[in-house]
Amino acid sequence: MERSSTSQERYAGTVTPVRILTAELLSIGTELTVGDTRDTNAGELAGWLAGLGVRVDRITALPDRLEVVADAFRMALSRADLVVSTGGLGPTPDDLTREAIADVVGESPVVDPALEDWLRSLWARRGMAFPEMNLKQAWLIPSATALANPAGTAPGWLVHRAGGGWIVALPGPPREMRPMWADEALPRLGAIGLGADVASTTFRLADIGESQVAEILGEAMLRRSNPQVATYARAEAVDVRVSAVGGADGDGTVRTAAEHVAIAAGVVRERLARFIWATGEQTWADAVGERLRARDWALGVIEIGTAGQVCALFGDVPWLVSDLSVRTDGEVTDREALLARASQARTLGHNDVGLAVEARELEEDMRVSVAVCTPDGDRYEDRMAFLGGSQGRARAALVAARVLFEALGSGAGGGSGDDVAPGGEIEPDARP
Ligand code: AMP
Ligand code: MG
Repeated sequence: MERSSTSQERYAGTVTPVRILTAELLSIGTELTVGDTRDTNAGELAGWLAGLGVRVDRITALPDRLEVVADAFRMALSRADLVVSTGGLGPTPDDLTREAIADVVGESPVVDPALEDWLRSLWARRGMAFPEMNLKQAWLIPSATALANPAGTAPGWLVHRAGGGWIVALPGPPREMRPMWADEALPRLGAIGLGADVASTTFRLADIGESQVAEILGEAMLRRSNPQVATYARAEAVDVRVSAVGGADGDGTVRTAAEHVAIAAGVVRERLARFIWATGEQTWADAVGERLRARDWALGVIEIGTAGQVCALFGDVPWLVSDLSVRTDGEVTDREALLARASQARTLGHNDVGLAVEARELEEDMRVSVAVCTPDGDRYEDRMAFLGGSQGRARAALVAARVLFEALGSGAGGGSGDDVAPGGEIEPDARP
């Protein structure tokens, strides 16, 4: 997406509709620059913004030093339409984000009576004296409106700089940052005009490597810039992400972003259907859970030699009766014995589905046997997982999830089902 004009040019006149198309993120706090705290805020915000069609050009972490923070705001505003900061909104003298923004827009903070009332009431409610140090959390400048903080004492700021550009200042703690961003900042930014027309969808693949995916999709498809098709090798899947911006594609055909994505995604789905197990951000727990819930089934698991990795992969989910899991080692099981285990897992806890998994190191790699018993029938598969040790055990769990998923989709019997994961909708790219 090209910027046809600078933000200053666009905000100066009212002829063209003003939209926020570019952003920079500032993560403020010395705890970040000394490595005590990981910056998770910026990554989350970047995901939101990218999904909404706002190009994030820079992410910067900064110490609690006024001149450094003020400079960073100034520079970011000179380049981007929107600057979103997190941190530095606390009551203590090292929290300097308000001071920095006031300096950049050339205004002086004053205590806002409404915010002051609200703050004082928070302490009064608990019958405690109000610490005057907190009064700076009631500051506003003329260009700023307050963003409510239902989870803490630090209101955020939405600032429109007279010369152009927007600032959103959010608190550092993620549980305060998230609701303020989603419920307070985003609706206001949306009303201003946020982002370009973008859309995307992601297919999650198993039983295939990234290079094989690339080969099947072909160079021409992977080199296109709009719609763009990209592959990502992740621990639990190879992801194929199809994304587009509204406008012309490589051949000059103009379509909406969703139309571009629908066409390209159709081709990807057709070529890779038998490897697709999920779409979007679905995990194995989501994909397996969906199939179990659809039939109101519960799962019992017995795992051998996997150090509990199968249950760990699924996590704390209502459909998994994890107390049935046993962690033994050194058994050598054949098909019938493992199926008997799966049947045991199924019947012991009055579950509908039983899964038995055994992983054994075989030279450098892991041999994985998986047995599944469902009311529709049994399924047994032997596969090799790459690498031994804990990596091999983690991959063994992925193999088990895959076999279970197929067994739940296509009922009894073997064979790799041609069943395609549900979904594949094209999101207009906003987070929930
Ligand atoms: P604040 O008082 O607004 O500066 O934020 C204080 C706390 O929020 C810090 O002690 C961290 O625990 C957390 N925090 C601040 N910035 C971030 C960030 N970028 N990512 C994750 N947590 C953060
Ligand atoms: Mg701080």
